[in-house]
Amino acid sequence: MKVLVINAGSSSLKYQLYNMVDESVLASGRVERIGMDSSIVTHEAEGKPEVRSVSEILDHVTAVKKVLEMLTHPEHGAVASMSEIEAVGHRIVHGGESFKSSVVVTPEVKLEIRNLFDLAPLHNPAHMMGIMAVETNMPNIPQAVVFDTAFHQTMPDTSYLYPIPRVLYRRHKVRRYGFHGTSHQYVSEQAASYLGKPLESLKMVSCHIGNGASCTAILDGKSFDTSMGMTPLEGLMMGTRSGDIDPAIVPFVMNKEELTLTEVNSMLNKHSGMMAISGISSDMREVSEAMEEGDRNAKLAFDMYAYRVRKYVGAYAAAMNGIDTLVFTAGVGENSSLLRKAVCEGLTFLGLELDESRNAVRSKEPRLISTDESRVKVLVVPTNEELIIARDTYRLITAAAQ
Ligand code: ADP
Repeated sequence: MKVLVINAGSSSLKYQLYNMVDESVLASGRVERIGMDSSIVTHEAEGKPEVRSVSEILDHVTAVKKVLEMLTHPEHGAVASMSEIEAVGHRIVHGGESFKSSVVVTPEVKLEIRNLFDLAPLHNPAHMMGIMAVETNMPNIPQAVVFDTAFHQTMPDTSYLYPIPRVLYRRHKVRRYGFHGTSHQYVSEQAASYLGKPLESLKMVSCHIGNGASCTAILDGKSFDTSMGMTPLEGLMMGTRSGDIDPAIVPFVMNKEELTLTEVNSMLNKHSGMMAISGISSDMREVSEAMEEGDRNAKLAFDMYAYRVRKYVGAYAAAMNGIDTLVFTAGVGENSSLLRKAVCEGLTFLGLELDESRNAVRSKEPRLISTDESRVKVLVVPTNEELIIARDTYRLITAAAQ
C-alpha cells in the first residue's frame, strides 16, 4: 500500500509518499506561499533530482492538485497513476479531549475537528482545508488523522488542570493538552526497544527540542505530564517562543507599551525565545556559532535555553519519583551535542553521567550517550513524525477494509 502523508498549514503544505511494504519514502516535497501568485512547489522523487516550479496556487485544492501532478509526472513522478495511492494521512495539531488516538476520517470526525477550531485557530482550519482538498482531488480515498495532542490524553487531572477558576475548564476546556505527542510516543517506544526493556517499566523524560520544544514525563508507558500547555507557547524556551513566563507580564506590558492582545500574542510567539535573547537568530546552529565566536548575548541565550530544559527534567524526575531514561530528539536534540552536554552537566545528582565521546557521535540511528555506569540512561533517538502518521494511517485503513 502507498500512503500519502500531508501536513497542511495555512499557506504551506508538506507531503511525503510512503511505500508501506518497506516504509521507504517514494517522494516528498512542499508547496509554499499558497494564496499568492508566485507559489513555489519543491518536489523530489526517490533517485531523481529535485524539481521546483513557481505558479499561482490560490487555495489548498489547487495545491493538492499540483502535488498529485508532481507525484504522477512521467519524468519527476513516483507513481504511474493516482490510483496507486491508497490512503492519505494528515497531521492535526489539536485533538482536544475528543481524540485519544488516530482515527479514520468520517463526517463526525470532520465535525469534531471543526468544533476544535477555537483551540487551535492557526492550525486546525488549515488541516481541515487539507482534508477537504484531498476529498475534492481524490474522491472516495480513505483518509486518517493523527493528532499531536492524542498521546497526552492520559495525563492525570493534577497535571492537566490549571489552578484557575474551574468554570473556565467546564465552559471553554481551558486545560493543558500538550503537543509533539506523536514524537514523544515514537521516541519513547524506540528508546525502550533499544534498551531491551518494556516501556511500562521505565521512568522516562523525552525532550523534543526543535524550533518548537517540549519535555514529557512518561510513566507506565503513558504521558504523565508535558511542558506545552493549552497552546504550544508554554514550557521550554524555544526558537521564537517565550515558554514559561509570569502571566502578569501580559497585562503589564500591554499597559506600558500600549500593545493590543494580538500584538502581545505575536510578541510571545514570534519575537521571544532564543531570537529575542540572542538578538541574532532563532536557529540553534547560528546561535551556537555566534557563541563560539564569543558573542555574549548568544551565550546567554544558549545558557538560558539549556537551563530551562534541565529544570524541566529535574521537575519531571521529582514528579515521577525518579528517572531512569532521558531521551533527546528533534533538530536540536538530535544534532546539538553542545546543548545535550549543557543540559546533562547539571543532572549528575540524579546519577546521570554523559559519555563525551558517545555524545559527539552523529548518527541517524538511536544511540546511548551516557556512560555504562550511568544510573540514568541517556539516548538520542531521531524522531520521524511523518512515518508515524503513515504507519497509523496504514494500520487504520487496513483494519477498516477488513
Ligand atoms: P521544527 O520544530 O520546525 O520541526 P526541527 O526539529 O527541524 O524544527 O529543528 C530545528 C532546529 O534544529 C533549529 O534550531 C536548527 O538550528 C536546529 N539544528 C538543526 N541541525 C543542527 C545542528 N547540526 N546543530 C545544532 N542545531 C541544529
